[in-house]
Amino acid sequence: ARARGALERLIRDVPDFPEPGVLFKDITPVLADCEAFHDVVEAMAEAGRDADGVTVVDRVLGMEARGFLLGAPIALALGVGFVPIRKAGKLPAETYGVTYDLEYGTATLEMHTDALRPGDRVLLVDDVLATGGTIAATTELVHRAGAEVHAVSVLMELAFLEGRAAAGDAPLSTLLTV
Ligand code: 5GP
Repeated sequence: ARARGALERLIRDVPDFPEPGVLFKDITPVLADCEAFHDVVEAMAEAGRDADGVTVVDRVLGMEARGFLLGAPIALALGVGFVPIRKAGKLPAETYGVTYDLEYGTATLEMHTDALRPGDRVLLVDDVLATGGTIAATTELVHRAGAEVHAVSVLMELAFLEGRAAAGDAPLSTLLTV
């Protein structure tokens, strides 16, 4: 509980970002605090281990851009490779793409077609779960590759946006719920 309070204090509320009326949760102070960053990575990596502490995922997937910052060290902590999920047009080789609806307009996420092998079990990592659109689109990319989502690990869940359903059958773990 003490660790949770310390973590909460490191997340900064920024009003009216990226647009008026939105209260943005800024996690950069967590990244800047080496001890907190380390503890967050260790806690979020637990979703990729079984009860005996053995890694049970084949890859960690991180969503652009803050999912990279957490996903890459989590992959190293678990001893598995990292796969970036990027916005349209950023990945150089052949990709799968999934387009999903935003409040205004659409967004597309892409993954290299050779990033996963059929049957791979993956851990999805992002900083914040809001509406769940990002998690749902990434889950679809994983299924395109014939792989499966073992679990979803986020630093913070904005529960009032009810994005949790987007994880589907995969367990969702979160360090903080707002
Ligand atoms: P969703 O697709 O669940 O609606 O939105 C989640 C995505 O938007 C995540 O990739 C997350 O980084 C970003 N996001 C949405 N709201 C916030 C926020 O308040 N703070 C941060 N750091 N990211 C957010």
